[in-house]
Amino acid sequence: MSGMIDPKTVAKIIDACDVVDVVSEFVNLRKAGVNYKGLCPFHNEKTPSFMVSPSRGTWHCFGCGKGGTAVGFVMDHEQMTYPEALRWLANKYHIEIVEKEQTDEQRQEQSERESMFIVNEWAKGYFKDVLRNSADGQAIGMQYFRSRGFRDDIIEKFQLGYDLPQRDLLARTALQRGYKEEFLLKTGLCYKTERGELIDRFAGRVMFPWISSSGKVCAFGGRLLDARTKGVQQKYVNSPESLIYKKERELYGIYQAKREIVKQECVFMVEGYTDVISMHQCGIENVVANSGTALSVHQIKMLHRFTNNIVLLYDGDAAGIHAAMRGTDMLLEEGMNIKVLILPDGDDPDSFARKHTAEEFRAYIEQHQKDFIAFKTQLMLDGVTDPVKRSEAINSIVKSVSVIPNPITRATYLADCSRRLGIGEQTLINQMNRFVSENLDEKRKERERTARREEREREAEPQPQQQTPTPQPVAQTPVQPANQPPTLETLIIQFIIKYGDRVIYRDIEAEDGSKLDLTVAQYIDYDLSQDNISFSDPTYNQILAEAVDHSGDEAFSSEQYFVHHGDQQIAQLAVRLTQERYTLSKSFDVEPDERTIRQQAEHLILEFRMSIVNAHLQELKTKIAQAGTSDELPRLLEDYRDTQEIRNALARQLGTDIVVRT
Ligand SMILES: [Zn+2]
Repeated sequence: MSGMIDPKTVAKIIDACDVVDVVSEFVNLRKAGVNYKGLCPFHNEKTPSFMVSPSRGTWHCFGCGKGGTAVGFVMDHEQMTYPEALRWLANKYHIEIVEKEQTDEQRQEQSERESMFIVNEWAKGYFKDVLRNSADGQAIGMQYFRSRGFRDDIIEKFQLGYDLPQRDLLARTALQRGYKEEFLLKTGLCYKTERGELIDRFAGRVMFPWISSSGKVCAFGGRLLDARTKGVQQKYVNSPESLIYKKERELYGIYQAKREIVKQECVFMVEGYTDVISMHQCGIENVVANSGTALSVHQIKMLHRFTNNIVLLYDGDAAGIHAAMRGTDMLLEEGMNIKVLILPDGDDPDSFARKHTAEEFRAYIEQHQKDFIAFKTQLMLDGVTDPVKRSEAINSIVKSVSVIPNPITRATYLADCSRRLGIGEQTLINQMNRFVSENLDEKRKERERTARREEREREAEPQPQQQTPTPQPVAQTPVQPANQPPTLETLIIQFIIKYGDRVIYRDIEAEDGSKLDLTVAQYIDYDLSQDNISFSDPTYNQILAEAVDHSGDEAFSSEQYFVHHGDQQIAQLAVRLTQERYTLSKSFDVEPDERTIRQQAEHLILEFRMSIVNAHLQELKTKIAQAGTSDELPRLLEDYRDTQEIRNALARQLGTDIVVRT
């Protein structure tokens, strides 16, 4: 299923799509003239502003601005990647998918994965059937779910089941049905004893299938029942990691939650299966769990595909509050807005959801959720008077702020911290800049380490075409480039698109004695052209040039200009960069003022210059190492010293006090 689709098949699928037909699968449409009309599935509305045009093969919502083709609709609505959407449509229109040529190994791995998913799918059905139709299933499994208050529709929605206590029953049944022992073992449904018996891993447990974001059963969690948990270490057992299940890449409940996450523009993060399920039953569906461990980068990136906003829900006890701090810098680094919600003491999301309606729960969230930085500040500093402890705490808070990719968000947080802490903003800025350049250094070193490792691997593997392909779990869809953290160049371009028309310097004296004002675009262009610096991406240079050209125009709006640009590549870039993802977090409603914009423009340009100088230093280092004692050496060393001086001067301007020793 993970293979590539042959281009001819792609064309066939796109030809077959009827946009009205596809959209109608999810939205009630009615005819309105030559078009069709309905309630938009992407935002909440009472009067229809969602239009489908059969002649153009497109849809568009006048309420939220979303729009596209049939394939795009399936991608957005079902939160699928492009290939997933194509496969979904191929299935709908009964088009046989021709895969691109694959190597034998790829083919074998793919069929192995498919076989594992097929066995898991069968097992899911088996567990459901046992729960509903066997005496033990009713008396033990269903009894347990009822005791948790789960309704039938919720049991069905989460595909819950029960596995009978006979330790070889599932294996025997599976083999009888023709499923192979190999895949019962590879999925971890069974394991083998030394005597060669095939034993059912989940015997006697209620079953929670893990459904990947594309809808396939990749693993199971099984819970022992209360009567049997005495003296047992693990109440829950999970499927072991496999070709189709990488723990750090999955989130429990993502399949059932993804559409609502997109619609609510927010995801709630909880710890356990029953937290997720109880919240759904209470009516809150944008919720996932990660089984109590800190979030991994993969999980964060997966969530970021659906939303910028995450709310971490924790129990009101000390352990819960402590847990709230784990892994949060990674979320900030990914550019997500974090809020924290502490539940009343003694409650977890499961128990709280069972006691309240969705409205009450939402109201509680609305009133009690705290912005993460504010939460951290309060938690670490309330009542702390010891100056050493205070300064450690402030350091830790500023460090958290320093990993946020967007400089404007960083600046806004620092202004806020300065107010809360009663510390001068400049002091905090200096401190943060120190962290920022340390972070940049670390990232650079990490890149170098990766590059060296890859080089070593290339050297060790003289025939790369014989490399075994790294297994990629099929459930994990590739992260689109749009979700990668922005580079410095991208941040500058975003800044130009958003604020390029804003005047940041007034009454500057020009060479001929006249006075002039400078916009952000003009300032950046002027500053960079002094040293012949340009962007590595030609499109970026074009954007800057156009923003400068139009800076004098009456009522020029940089954002409007680029979003509606005739060049689709530029227009799409502008739309992407002006979306909320890279901009101010929602907790800051204020437009930044002239001073903030000027400071940010200056800061971005300094950081950009710094990155160029650092790259040049690296290059010189390599050349010096290779020069040996050649005649080149003195000139290289001199260049190196000069560049270091520039770097130190820049560091001073950036407010850092890194002194580079020669
Ligand atoms: Zn809409």
